[in-house]
Amino acid sequence: MNTLVTMKRLTLLAALPLLLSLMSMSAFAGDGTLKLKVSKTERTQGEFFIVEAEGAESEPTLFFMERKWQMFPDNEGGWTAMVPVENLSTPGSYAFLLRDGKRERHQKVRIRTNNLPIQNITLRGSKAGLHATETEKTKVRSALQTITAEKLNSGPLILPCKGEISSIFGRKRSYNGGPAASYHKGVDFGAPSGTPVLAPASGTVILAGTVEEGFVVHGNTVILNHGHALTSVYLHMSSITVREGDRVQRGEEIGRVGHTGISTAPHLHWGTYLYGISVDPLFLVTTSSPEGAP
Ligand SMILES: [Zn+2]
Repeated sequence: MNTLVTMKRLTLLAALPLLLSLMSMSAFAGDGTLKLKVSKTERTQGEFFIVEAEGAESEPTLFFMERKWQMFPDNEGGWTAMVPVENLSTPGSYAFLLRDGKRERHQKVRIRTNNLPIQNITLRGSKAGLHATETEKTKVRSALQTITAEKLNSGPLILPCKGEISSIFGRKRSYNGGPAASYHKGVDFGAPSGTPVLAPASGTVILAGTVEEGFVVHGNTVILNHGHALTSVYLHMSSITVREGDRVQRGEEIGRVGHTGISTAPHLHWGTYLYGISVDPLFLVTTSSPEGAP
């Protein structure tokens, strides 16, 4: 037998345990390379991107639109985040940047305008002069910014109310002829007073505020935390049937439709927020991640 061939065989055999251990190590951490996956390369104002990271050795850092976004561990050793596109953000080209130690990955995306018209709203009588109290402003703002790593819901969202959609998300608004400095941060359902309001996703009640407690503009208000930086708000209700700290399941009643606070007729205002930024609730109902998020 040729001595050289034998030696080559021996070298291969000696290297085999090392090769095998390297293979099993890379199987443990995906294939060892850092991967950035973004659900779509184009989104419209008021929508969001689903971002996934694989192969990170520690918690990766995600940057988008000059801001850092906390990622959350998924069940398969990867990381995930739903990154909102603010409704007033400038359309154009942007990039996601994922960083894990010295490794970096980039993904270019585009943001489109939603081209929604300006809506003129006339408020008459005593409600025209109402301003949100410090209590409701502070409590609502801080509850909507809740970020928790525990995922409290899985599966798509359902609609919280039976009723016609009377106002869609994102329309810029002018009150009593004033400038259009705000936009509609939710979806309105026109429905008779007393119509049940259901949790569209499982979560925890993090705010239950009443008119008597100072919620004079929002009316009787509930805010739910669904985990992974997703929260939702329900306004103008005639009654609230949950308490702060309650766990609710998707489909469970949380209150009843009403017209408390600034409201021209009985309706439910439903808002959804990612990292405290308002996104279109109907987009959450129709969009699901590969694992059936959010
Ligand atoms: Zn509304």
